Amino acid sequence: KIKQIAIYGKGGIGKSTTTSNISAALSDMGYKVMQFGCDPKADSTNTLRDGTYIPTVLELLREKGTVDAHDAIFQGYNGIYCVEAGGPAPGVGCAGRGITTAVQLLKQQKIFEELDLDYVIYDVLGDVVCGGFAVPIREGIAEHVFTVSSSDFMAIYAANNLFKGIQKYSNAGGALLGGVIANSVTSPFQQKIIDDFVERTKTQVMEYVPRSITVTQSELSGRTTIEAAPNSVQAQVYRNLAKRIDEHSESTVPAPLDSQELKEWAAKWADLLVAIESGEIRGASES
Ligand code: ADP
Ligand code: SF4
Ligand code: MG
Repeated sequence: KIKQIAIYGKGGIGKSTTTSNISAALSDMGYKVMQFGCDPKADSTNTLRDGTYIPTVLELLREKGTVDAHDAIFQGYNGIYCVEAGGPAPGVGCAGRGITTAVQLLKQQKIFEELDLDYVIYDVLGDVVCGGFAVPIREGIAEHVFTVSSSDFMAIYAANNLFKGIQKYSNAGGALLGGVIANSVTSPFQQKIIDDFVERTKTQVMEYVPRSITVTQSELSGRTTIEAAPNSVQAQVYRNLAKRIDEHSESTVPAPLDSQELKEWAAKWADLLVAIESGEIRGASES
């Protein structure tokens, strides 16, 4: 049975990097994978294809009126199918609606069945969980949602908003939450912040992904870390993450914090940070 997964997170947090490495790792495990970029930036699949851009579904639709889905599917590393939904012409239309249009196009043409896919992974911008970008959740396109977050407040804030969106549609056949992919976690203190957040919101961390120069080097060579540095520690982290996602089957409804709770939660961590900085309590790096 095909498994459809959506990976959300704020812009620049590492969604595409992480998603592409997950796709590459799943593909190395023998699965047939499609990565479906749902960010108007349309660069989700670049590192699966030597750093190149592909024409987007919406772009092709604008040019031609109708599109044979095959013209929007390009193979990348290890045969991974790459698709970019793209966005509306700047200043025109709804980016989220565009995602629906792009997904519907592939579904109507029965592409997932034709390609006999094991995984479709949607890489979705999640700065705002507006009606548009909530589409993969709301319309049950994906069954499992994961969010990429660092320990930075804005990333946590976006994750918490996503949880609100998931909770809202959970009674109406919407996608449920698999967990948090903690990205750019370098210190134990950062890890503790994320651990505390997932505990409060009743979810889990799928994997801690360190910030790594290997990722930067791989990206500069136009490739995923799985492809460019398969024997690196970082590649092993991505393989572990892919394995956990592969084994994951039961997603749940998260318990997002309301704005007052989130404020208090942030204030608590701000105090802890000050205490550590001033040496009042022992630094988390030593504990
Ligand atoms: P998004 O898709 O969420 O907008 P990207 O995946 O494009 O974000 O990542 C933004 C930048 O951060 C990229 O240059 C990427 O290489 C870098 N990056 C992401 N994760 C890591 C990491 N774990 N270590 C080092 N650099 C990272
Ligand atoms: Fe943009 Fe979201 Fe509004 Fe659509 S619903 S126009 S994606 S803000
Ligand atoms: Mg991206």
